[in-house]
Amino acid sequence: MIPVRAEGVEKVFRSRGGHRVTALAGVGVEVPAGGFLFVTGPSGSGKTTLLHVLAGLLRPDRGEVWWGEDRITGLPEPRVTRLRRRLAGFAFQRDRYLERARVWENVTVLLAAQGVGRRQRRARALEQLGRLGLADWADHYPWELSGGQRQRVALARALVHGPGVLFADEPAAQVDPDTAGLVEAVLREENARGVTVVVASHEALGAKPGDRMIRLEPSGRRGGAAWRSSS
Ligand code: ADP
Ligand code: MG
Repeated sequence: MIPVRAEGVEKVFRSRGGHRVTALAGVGVEVPAGGFLFVTGPSGSGKTTLLHVLAGLLRPDRGEVWWGEDRITGLPEPRVTRLRRRLAGFAFQRDRYLERARVWENVTVLLAAQGVGRRQRRARALEQLGRLGLADWADHYPWELSGGQRQRVALARALVHGPGVLFADEPAAQVDPDTAGLVEAVLREENARGVTVVVASHEALGAKPGDRMIRLEPSGRRGGAAWRSSS
């Protein structure tokens, strides 16, 4: 439902040792409302950095990001956070959980902050966990889960408030092919409902005509400024 656009995005990290790592060197992307974008490239090529910049979690050194009419790179941090909570969902590659809270409670942290009642929260968590094959894990604790299960909990958490744009960072990197198929099906279902989907993955597995794709290269090589539709 929300178009996402970025132009000329640059991000350089400075390590403690004083090294400079160019994570993004002038990247542009455009995903129409209800579009599906794959961000691909080898490990270290900047996929996570790009997703964080597109989601307003990280400020680029240069370049602009728009969500529809909102130029989020020009907005103060608290407004970006409010917009993101309302409009976007982000499934982190390695999410952090409240280890003493149950899985379903972790899924609904944001809803709790919004004042949604416990019964409703649990129902909504179960709905998302169920479609990701995790219904039986709702009352477990995060530390009881495998890496792949935790990634799916991250996806459930990103979806539970019905976002207009979903960012998923390698959501199926640590799972078997059947489970990867399940994750992919959920991403496609959301997209079919009109949700704009941006997914980082090694390769654009299951890409369909009409999907967009950007392939990033590790720093020092190409900047990855080209994006294209695979159709
Ligand atoms: P990918 O997700 O494709 O594996 P990343 O976006 O995580 O790539 O990283 C891109 C490059 O930026 C890598 O060289 C990585 O080491 C570096 N990098 C990422 N985050 C940081 C950070 N917070 N501090 C320093 N370097 C970072
Ligand atoms: Mg990454």
